[in-house]
Amino acid sequence: MSPAKILRVGLAVACCGALAASVRAQAPPAPPPITMKQLKPDVWVGLGGAGGNSTIIIGKTGVIVVDAKQTEAGAKDLLAEIAKITPKPVTTAIITHSDGDHVNGLVAFPAGIKIIAHEGNKKEQEAALAAGGRGAPPADRLPNQVVTKKKESITIDGVKLELYHFAPAHTSGDLIVYQPGPKVVSTGDIVVTNRADDNPNIHFEKNGSTEGWLANVKGMIALKADTYVTGHGDLLTAADLQRKLTATTERRNKIAAMVKEGKTLDEIKAALPDAPAPGAAPRGAGARAGAPGAGGAGGGRGGPPALTFVETAYQELTKGKK
Ligand SMILES: [Zn+2]
Repeated sequence: MSPAKILRVGLAVACCGALAASVRAQAPPAPPPITMKQLKPDVWVGLGGAGGNSTIIIGKTGVIVVDAKQTEAGAKDLLAEIAKITPKPVTTAIITHSDGDHVNGLVAFPAGIKIIAHEGNKKEQEAALAAGGRGAPPADRLPNQVVTKKKESITIDGVKLELYHFAPAHTSGDLIVYQPGPKVVSTGDIVVTNRADDNPNIHFEKNGSTEGWLANVKGMIALKADTYVTGHGDLLTAADLQRKLTATTERRNKIAAMVKEGKTLDEIKAALPDAPAPGAAPRGAGARAGAPGAGGAGGGRGGPPALTFVETAYQELTKGKK
């Protein structure tokens, strides 16, 4: 080979190497695998993957999916898993709240499907869209059927569902999906297992409420479901929810008692620090709400860090008293 040709080949190799490296750098990381579990003959869950848990309900002619994962790739993985269990198309999505890790995968869902959400969820998505930014929801997949009441009983494709919004809890637009036949509740991020029992994730900036959280968990327990599909983490029972309700009620009562004694927010925070998430290292004093995947990836908003449970409860308990 002539020296000039060697140089050309060498340049070509270097160039291709650089190109391959840049392609690798641009390719988004593969989402973690989804764990599929069958709960009842026509009810499955897709746990984990990119974003929150999804509930999959197989109707007469189509499939209803509760929560849509966070990314296009993650949702494609979910749809591929659904295709392994049924040839029926996905025709309906029900979204439990407006956080991006439950909404944004809708971009991979078929166009024109029914998308059901609480009206507060839709408003929050519209606000996130208007604000723009990386976490904004897909503009052509906004909810096209909104729930406005505390309870709506509907039948979709032969599947009986009860949709509940007892009060704002994790966000202003929470929607709980109950299937009275198979006795399965999809809780959204009102209930997760990647945070301590007494430290639920309340988005103060989305008008969530610690008091509303208690009302919602009481309501879910009263449904006496066999299985509670959480927003993140494992499946739970009514007894697990009761344990969380008791722990959170006690912590909130302690906050209320200290507010009554005239303690400052800093004093209350020091006395009642956030317990670490299960299996996690103790969090530093600077740690804020938003355990990994706990719904921090919400709706295309930047801004200040989210308030903690104690900070949110304090705001509620001192409202109008200062
Ligand atoms: Zn979430």
